[in-house]
Amino acid sequence: MGRQLLAAGHQVVADAAEADKVIINTCAVTAEAARDARVLTRRLHKLNDTADILLTGCYATIAPRELARVEGATAVIPNSHKAQLVQQIDPLINPDLPVYEQEPLLREFHAGTTSRTRAFIKVQDGCDNKCTFCVTTIARGAGQSRHLGNVVAEVQALASAGYLEAVLTGVHLGSYGRDLGQPHGLRDLVAALLTHTDMPRLRLSSLEPWEIADGFFGLWENPRLLPHLHLPLQSGSERILRLMARKTRPESFRALVEEARGHIPHLNLTTDLIVGFPGETEADFEESLAFTAAMNFSRIHAFSYSPRPGTAAATMPNHLPKHIKKERIGRVMAVAQELGRAYHEQYVGQTMPVLWESVLGADEAGLRLAGYTDNYMRVLGHGTADDLKRITAVHLTSADADGLTGTVVPSP
Ligand code: SF4
Repeated sequence: MGRQLLAAGHQVVADAAEADKVIINTCAVTAEAARDARVLTRRLHKLNDTADILLTGCYATIAPRELARVEGATAVIPNSHKAQLVQQIDPLINPDLPVYEQEPLLREFHAGTTSRTRAFIKVQDGCDNKCTFCVTTIARGAGQSRHLGNVVAEVQALASAGYLEAVLTGVHLGSYGRDLGQPHGLRDLVAALLTHTDMPRLRLSSLEPWEIADGFFGLWENPRLLPHLHLPLQSGSERILRLMARKTRPESFRALVEEARGHIPHLNLTTDLIVGFPGETEADFEESLAFTAAMNFSRIHAFSYSPRPGTAAATMPNHLPKHIKKERIGRVMAVAQELGRAYHEQYVGQTMPVLWESVLGADEAGLRLAGYTDNYMRVLGHGTADDLKRITAVHLTSADADGLTGTVVPSP
């Protein structure tokens, strides 16, 4: 949307206080995410009560009336009309304008007014699965993929504009291409991007742990494809996975992880876990936690289950009280901390490439920078303004559960 507005001559400002229009892309994956959207709407309205606030996304789709009542909300646009949202702001915008036609403007924008280094490219939306906790499919509908040539053109335009890393995203990224009759769509897309673009680093976002094409992990022979996979497990209990209608089981997940680790050196594996699903017994939880620990994830995003309207799980019996979910989340977080620390500690003493992305502050040693290794470990270190937005070699000196610290190795 930002690109379309820029191409039509509008400006994207860094501060909402200066904006005429504000677009909020809401999320409904948990009750907290929905509350965050309401809080943000009120906060931005307080900050700038002359700006129109346009709300879209999944929360705007599943609860439009609730959202419209929030103070400051000007319009609520469901996902089905999201593509036309920019035309509500400027009726002259052509939402179908191919990205390469906007490229000169983008180049100007990226070179002049933004310092971003990592681009997120949405290649797919919607999902054909029916996980019983998931409101996303209700809000987004069936899977839809962008055409391969269009994605390749966009990634190349971003590489030409100076971006160093592209992250492919989608609601169910692994299903990319199915709706276009391409059963191995994601494998073919990644291969095409590695062959036909100059993007220095290519990363995949969350990938559901099933329907992964044969030979998929062979793509990592190309070092530009970064060794990080986010595979949402959601539960390590076979019974709960069945209740969730997930298309994975602990043993198939384990086999997938072993295959991936066998092909991808330095693979960093992260996951999502839902705690306190309806009917989750103490024994189910313990099974889930033990399996999760055995997978050696470096990071676990643990969510306390919250019922979402319209989902099958919301009507299941035996919802757990808050205090049990809270206590179980605490136990997951303790395991996550241990795993994170152990994973990061193996890299102390090594030198790895880091893309420095942001400045956290400054002290007598210089700028305090934050960045990521190719396998998505967060690194903190000191550097200069010249290091920012660049990939430099970093000697890693200490580790904790969240990442590492290190020193930039001067280039020869
Ligand atoms: S595969 Fe992912 S997006 Fe699709 S229904 Fe399941 S959780 Fe939701």
